[in-house]
Amino acid sequence: MITRYETKKIYVGNVAIGGDAPISVQSMTFSKTDNIEETVEQIRMLHFAGADIVRLAVPDMEAALALKEIKKQTTLPLVADIHFNYKLALEAAKWVDCIRFNPGNIGEQNRIKEIIKACKERNLPVRIGVNCGSLESKFEDKYGQTAKGMVESAMYNIKFLEDLDFTDIKISLKASDVQRTVEAYRMLRPLNNYPFHLGVTEAGTLFHSTIKSSIALGSLILDGIGDTLRVSITGELEKEIEVGKAILKDAGVVKNGVNIISCPTCGRIEADLVTAVAEVEKATAHIKTPLNLSVMGCVVNAIGEAKSADVAIAYGNGSGLIIKKGEVIEKLSTDKLLARFLEEVEKEALAQENLL
Ligand code: SF4
Repeated sequence: MITRYETKKIYVGNVAIGGDAPISVQSMTFSKTDNIEETVEQIRMLHFAGADIVRLAVPDMEAALALKEIKKQTTLPLVADIHFNYKLALEAAKWVDCIRFNPGNIGEQNRIKEIIKACKERNLPVRIGVNCGSLESKFEDKYGQTAKGMVESAMYNIKFLEDLDFTDIKISLKASDVQRTVEAYRMLRPLNNYPFHLGVTEAGTLFHSTIKSSIALGSLILDGIGDTLRVSITGELEKEIEVGKAILKDAGVVKNGVNIISCPTCGRIEADLVTAVAEVEKATAHIKTPLNLSVMGCVVNAIGEAKSADVAIAYGNGSGLIIKKGEVIEKLSTDKLLARFLEEVEKEALAQENLL
């Protein structure tokens, strides 16, 4: 049972973050933002993949000016990512749903005030995004690139905004490795109630990022920490959403859709389990009802696993069993087993939907 930290609820467009809102999944386009066509296409791909929010880099005024047209072409909430130049934040704030900037990077108090005034006028929240690799020098000099340095930087930036009576804030504390990332979020969590955006930065390729993000984000989510997340993967836009959603599902905080339990196979295997599981995955992808399905290669562990499954297959020698809620309902030859199993899965999904 996960007990989430109680956090303040803020809104990025129509997406709630914090409080009792579900943990949202976001990503970031990698097109040049002033290439409107390409940026809109990437947002569309992310929308289709199930993204809740999309962030865009705003490195110059061309990018900031492009946001007006980009916003017209999508319904997804957008976050403008700003560094150093407050004028970019002021232009972006006219069009997007959230500004990511660190007050400490903007410098002059008057400029920060102007950004916050613009955010207040449109009810935009701010993400303070602390990255271990770009800490303000006073924190890096004192603490090095450590979790403590990130936490001190976050507290310093939070104070800037609180002093301006601005509290629609979410915070990220990203390092490129698991340990510092987890340590920083855990250290900061008891110190305020702002929602947290989780992520491991520069996490690498699909393979490495999936592992790093699963450990770091998974650990934090199980601690009850985290209100929105991004899995950052080099060059894999839609996978960021797919992996992010899978982390939430496998951590047990999202319950919809099927959870497939399948054995790793071994010398006792009685069927082509790899093909069978792939078919089950494909045939059940449309199901939104939370269902536990078990697909096991022989009877050794199948009966035990079937006890906690809604529908299960236990392959045997030339035949196998269909098991529902722990009860064997049919014994069939191997070639008929999968079709019958899928039939029962659809029935069970419908039955549970009607109960929901
Ligand atoms: S269920 Fe059977 S085939 Fe699968 S790993 Fe266990 S013993 Fe091996």
